[in-house]
Amino acid sequence: MEDKRHILLVEDDKYIINFISMSLKKENYGFYIAKTVEEAISLFYANRPDMVILDLGLPDGDGMDVLKAVREISQIPIIVVSARQEEQQKIEALDMGADDYVTKPFYMGELMARIRVGLRKSSVQQQEETDPVFVCDYLTVDREKHLVMIDGDEVHLTPLEYKILNLLIENRGKVLTHRYILSEIWGSSQGVESGNLRVFMAALRRKIEKEPTNPQFILTEVGVGYRFKG
Ligand code: CA
Repeated sequence: MEDKRHILLVEDDKYIINFISMSLKKENYGFYIAKTVEEAISLFYANRPDMVILDLGLPDGDGMDVLKAVREISQIPIIVVSARQEEQQKIEALDMGADDYVTKPFYMGELMARIRVGLRKSSVQQQEETDPVFVCDYLTVDREKHLVMIDGDEVHLTPLEYKILNLLIENRGKVLTHRYILSEIWGSSQGVESGNLRVFMAALRRKIEKEPTNPQFILTEVGVGYRFKG
């Protein structure tokens, strides 16, 4: 098939490799399997896949090295697969530009959904970047006129709220860490606490979500950050 998407699976656990590759095959993705950092980097350069699924703990080093090598030349989606005890590394990986994560043990349906979101995002992004009007359900953001509308009615955001909303929309589907958002919005994560960010998010949600306590657009990634619905 001409438009078959190819995924580089970086994982050293045989059981997980079997488990994931069976599902990839079933969903008609092409894939390459790398069990070490070295294999991953060489398979990435040789095949230029559309996405990377990345285990962080590899026998010859850290999955982070794969992430850095890929990000040097490519913005393809990277989904980190981490173990519970790798919480800190997972956040670091997201700070370094990974798009998303699943934590072991995970449901295959969940990983497949993340893969679909990641691949769809990378294929529509270029086309959408030129369109100043973003529409998602009842939310419209006109980035030329700096206008935010709910069901066609204008809502007033503060400049900071507007900036945060746009950052989330530009990166929709992707998990943004607290540190990343703070540094993008305030220029540094120093001096601004993630608690302050929670206050801004709550205010923003009250303005754009119909049910702020059950948000449809701005989703919380507990202990990690936020994600705009993919
Ligand atoms: Ca591993």
